[in-house]
Amino acid sequence: MNTQLDDMYRDVILDHYRFPRGKKALNHFDIQAEGMNPACGDEIAMELELENNKVKDLHVDCRGCAISVASGSMLAEISKGKTIEELKELSAIVKKMLKGEPVTLPKQFGDLDALQGVKQFPVRIKCALLAWVTLISGISNYEQGIKTAASASTENMD
Ligand code: ZN
Repeated sequence: MNTQLDDMYRDVILDHYRFPRGKKALNHFDIQAEGMNPACGDEIAMELELENNKVKDLHVDCRGCAISVASGSMLAEISKGKTIEELKELSAIVKKMLKGEPVTLPKQFGDLDALQGVKQFPVRIKCALLAWVTLISGISNYEQGIKTAASASTENMD
């Protein structure tokens, strides 16, 4: 990766860090999840409101390093209007991308490709994954009909 590309990625990540999307709290939500990344001290909470099985609105509150906050912000930006199935697919794609596994990135990938640079820094991969792991745990609870907030951690993740 050349320096120019690195700079571009850094600018996109810093923009999301400084101005995180999805900051407005919701009055009503169907999915709720919290997650933590003990390796870095990142914490995240999110709620999603569904309508006709699609994300009508979501709130993401991440406190942590620039990578974790930017990843949560990108998740907030891209998730609106998506179905649960689409979000599960997207999470799997992001996970593969971050781990450097072969994956075809979708055309509508928003700013998420800026996270590709993170795979060069193994210790930061969990920072970028936190939001997605938390989303999946929230979806899993929702699908099982569990009403309480899901709780996720990157601690024992490979
Ligand atoms: Zn972090």
